[in-house]
Amino acid sequence: MFAFVFTLILIWLAMWAFFKFMYPKPPKEFMPKKGDVITPRDCDFCGYPLAEYRGVMETIPKAQIAEAEQKQISKLAAEVDAIKQQVLSHEAAAKDKAHQKTLTRQQKKQASAQYEQLQKQLFEKNQQLKKMTSWFFCNYDHQADFHARRAP
Ligand SMILES: [Zn+2]
Repeated sequence: MFAFVFTLILIWLAMWAFFKFMYPKPPKEFMPKKGDVITPRDCDFCGYPLAEYRGVMETIPKAQIAEAEQKQISKLAAEVDAIKQQVLSHEAAAKDKAHQKTLTRQQKKQASAQYEQLQKQLFEKNQQLKKMTSWFFCNYDHQADFHARRAP
């Protein structure tokens, strides 16, 4: 029995060493840092989807955004603000110990589910807003090519 377990451990170690050797860790700059948005976004030049933190983002000059879109952007921004307010009041309620004591377990559970939902909404709306107000590129080359093509 011991020999069997020992063999298994040896095999596992050999596999681990093999994979470590075959698939070295990517360099640090390719790994997302805290707060990085890892949702993919399509490059505005070539259409390739890339994790947002790995690409280049550029704010679209306001003059280049159509009026209809500007309206949508303000509406979206107002929605983002409203959700932010809700998130803040949730956070305040969570810190209020006297208030927390009046809640049942069920209510606390509900509140934290709501909070998570709000965070998700906030993230999604923010992403939508970002997509409307910025261009996104794989790299600086695609950014330059994009502008070269747009120039008259
Ligand atoms: Zn690209």
